[in-house]
This record gives sequence, structure tokens and C-alpha cells, in this order.
Amino acid sequence: MARQGSVLIVEDEEAIRDLVAFHLEAAGFQVRQASDGVDGLRLALEEPPDLLLLDLMLPGLDGVALLRALRRESRVPVIMLTARTEEADRVRGLELGADDYVGKPFSPRELVARVKAVLRRTDPPGERLAAGGVEIDLSAHRCFVDGVERELTLTEFGILRTLMERPGQVLTRELLLEKVWGFDYYGDARTVDVHMRHLREKVEAEPSRPRLIETVRGVGYRFRT
Ligand code: CA
Repeated sequence: MARQGSVLIVEDEEAIRDLVAFHLEAAGFQVRQASDGVDGLRLALEEPPDLLLLDLMLPGLDGVALLRALRRESRVPVIMLTARTEEADRVRGLELGADDYVGKPFSPRELVARVKAVLRRTDPPGERLAAGGVEIDLSAHRCFVDGVERELTLTEFGILRTLMERPGQVLTRELLLEKVWGFDYYGDARTVDVHMRHLREKVEAEPSRPRLIETVRGVGYRFRT
């Protein structure tokens, strides 16, 4: 079975943990478990999973506190596991950036479906950079301009990423060659200009009057902030 991604379950009730783990593993997920909030937060930060299943009522650090601490550093998708009586906590959890919740008792099959749905929404999981209406997903190599996907070649993506990682800085063609093509590439700096032209045709509304990527004459290029 194809690998579906990794899920961290933070839940103090062993029976629920085992049940959820069993069904997720059967569906192809790689599963890790934590039985309290402190351990869960540590695992989530040390080796981020693709998704976190978070029980709200936990010993030590409860789910809402865990989520608040997690969201300072991580955007990993979170599904809360909540009892009916925890509605106020559920609302707080969603406000703190949880992606979904599943009420207890739940059917394991429904839970697996919800996990897949959240991962599809956030899929592919990965770090994103966003500025000036451009959003790029670093692991999936996808680029969106004003929400519309633009198909970039790996090289065009590499140029855009390098610029977006250093907003407002002027990057020389030589630096772009080094970052995008690598140290060993004996290319002409004009190679950069050719790819830049193609990139602009894809991301700029008016490629002849670029709004996002500015040419700094005699120096290089800059991503406008
Ligand atoms: Ca609990």
C-alpha cells in the first residue's frame, strides 16, 4: 500500500489510541503515539508529523494549551478529538488553528476519512512562502498567483523560491546561478535572464512591466515586498 503520511496521536486513553492507530496503519499511515500533552508537544515539534490527532482532555498539558504552544512554531494540520461536553474547548481549539474536530464516540472509518480529507486540503504538506499575492509550496513545488496555480519548471521555481526567501534583497545573477543551478554549473549569467523572462511570463500580470520581480539594472533581481 502506498505510504499515506505520518500521523501523531496524542491521547491518554490507551484503548482509543490503539484503536485509532490500528485503523490508520491499516489505511497505510505511519503512526506515532503520545499519552500526555507534554510528550505530544515534544514529539510534534521534534519530528513534525503530516497531521496531529489531538485529544482535548489530557493530563499535564491539555489539548488547547498544547495547540496554543504548537501554533507558535508549526502549521501542522490538527484534528481534535472531543467529547460532547467539551464544546467550548472545541470552539477555542478551532480559533487557535485546529483544522477539524471529531466528536467522541467516533467511528474509526469516519476518523480515517476525516484525516484523509484534511490532508487533501493541506496536501501536499510542506512549508509555504507567501508574499505579494504569490504563494509557493516548497515541498510540492507548486506556485499560486492570486490563488491560481501557475505551472513552473523546476528552474523557474528555484529562481522564484530563492528570491522569495530573501524579499527586498537584490540578488546577483551569479548568486542565483549558484543557488539554483549549483556551484558546479559553468553557465552564462544570461541563462538567468532567459529563465527569468519565462518565469515572469507565468507569474506577472504584465511581464513587460513586472510588479513582483524587479530588475535592478547592472546588479540583478529583487522580489518586491
Ligand atoms: Ca482524554
